[in-house]
Amino acid sequence: MVETKSLMEQAENNLLHTYNRFPLVLDHGEGVYLYDSEGKKYLDFAAGIAVQALGYADEEYNQALKNQIDKLLHTSNLYYNQPVIEAAEKLCAVSGLDRVFFTNSGTEAIEGAIKAAKKYAYEKDGCTDHELIAMNHSFHGRSLGALAVTGNAHYREPFEPLPGIVKFADYNDLDSVIKLVNDKTCAILLETVQGEGGIYPAEEEFLNGIRQICDEKDILLILDEIQCGMGRCGTMFAWQSYGVKPDIMTCAKALGCGVPVGAFVMTKAVADASLKPGDHGTTYGGNPFVGAAVSKVLDIFQDRQLTKHVRETGIYLEQELDRLKSQYECITDRRGRGLMQGLELTVSAGAVSSKALEQGLLVITAGNNVLRFVPPLVIGKEHVDEMIQKLKKVLDNL
Ligand SMILES: *Cc1c(COP(=O)(O)O)cnc(C)c1O
Repeated sequence: MVETKSLMEQAENNLLHTYNRFPLVLDHGEGVYLYDSEGKKYLDFAAGIAVQALGYADEEYNQALKNQIDKLLHTSNLYYNQPVIEAAEKLCAVSGLDRVFFTNSGTEAIEGAIKAAKKYAYEKDGCTDHELIAMNHSFHGRSLGALAVTGNAHYREPFEPLPGIVKFADYNDLDSVIKLVNDKTCAILLETVQGEGGIYPAEEEFLNGIRQICDEKDILLILDEIQCGMGRCGTMFAWQSYGVKPDIMTCAKALGCGVPVGAFVMTKAVADASLKPGDHGTTYGGNPFVGAAVSKVLDIFQDRQLTKHVRETGIYLEQELDRLKSQYECITDRRGRGLMQGLELTVSAGAVSSKALEQGLLVITAGNNVLRFVPPLVIGKEHVDEMIQKLKKVLDNL
C-alpha cells in the first residue's frame, strides 16, 4: 500500500490535476486482465477507453512494434515510408473510403475533418462563413476546434468563444437537424454511436435522413467513429451496418491498439476538392512506428475475424446485461451495439465503478448515470460471466 500511496502523491505533485484518477497504479497487462503495482488482478472492461481492442501483451502485435523500433521510428512526412503506405491502403480497403490522413489523436482527426469540410466549401464559393451542424451531448475532443463541435456546456464554457459557426441539433431528432440546415451549412458531424454522451446508437431513419439531406445539398457527412469504430459495434465501422457511407470519417482509439494514432479518411471526391499541399500537416502523424502498428492491427482484425467474434460476444453481453437489468431496480435501461454497451442507473455510475475496483473489475462511466462497457474485443463469454458476477457483488452491496 505504501508504494501505491507514495506513487499517487508523487503524481499529484508533478502531473497537472486534470483527472480525478482511480486510486491504483497499473503495472502490466495480460490478455483481458490488468495488474496493479501490488499485484492485484483486474478484469478489464474499460480497455483504456475503448483502445485496447486486442487486450494486452498480444505477441504478434508486440513483435511487429519491436521489429519496427529496431528498423525505423520516425522520418517526418517529407519522405515516404512503407509501413504507413501499407496502413493507409488497408484502412481504405476496410472502409471503402479513398484517402487517409494520419494524426496523433482523435481530437486531431476531428480538427482535420473540420478543416477538410471548410476547405471543400471554400473551394466552391470562396466564402469563409460556412456553418457546421453538430449534436447535443456529443463528444469530439478537447482541442479548441473539437470543443467547438462538442455539445457539452460544461466542457466548452470556460474556453469560449470557440472557432467557427457551429449549431447544435438533437441526436436522433431529424427535424431538429433539418431546421438548422441552410445555404451556409458545409458539414453535419456526429458520432455513429454517441459514447461519452451516454451510449446512444443512431437510429436508422435518423442517419439515413441526414445522408439524404447531405446528398441533396452537397453538404458533407462527417461520422466520428473514434470510439464506436474499429469493430466495436460488430462491423469494422459502425456506419457499415446502416447502409450509409460518410464523406469523411474520423478514427483513433483502437486504430493503434495502444499506440497514439488517429486518422481522418475521406472519399476521393472530397479529397480532390479540399485539402491541398500546404493546407494541413503534422510532424509525427503517420510515422513508420504508428504505421506498423495500424497495419498489424488491421491484419489481425482480418486474420482472427474479430468483427464476427464481436457480433457473437456482443449478443451474449447484451443478453446478460438485459438479464441483470431485470434483476436490479437501479438499472433503468441498456443501450448499445456489439461490445459498446451502457447501463443507465438511478444511482451514481461513478460510485459503482469505484466499488467495482474492490471486486477486481475495471468499468467506466459515460456521464453521471451510465455505466459504460467497452472491453477488449477479444473477450470470451467466460469473461462476460465473470464481469456479471463481479458487478452483481457491487450492486448487492450498494
Ligand atoms: C475519445 C474520443 C475523441 C477524442 O479522441 P482523443 O484521442 O482523446 O483526442 C473524439 N471523439 C470521440 C467519439 C471519442 O470517443
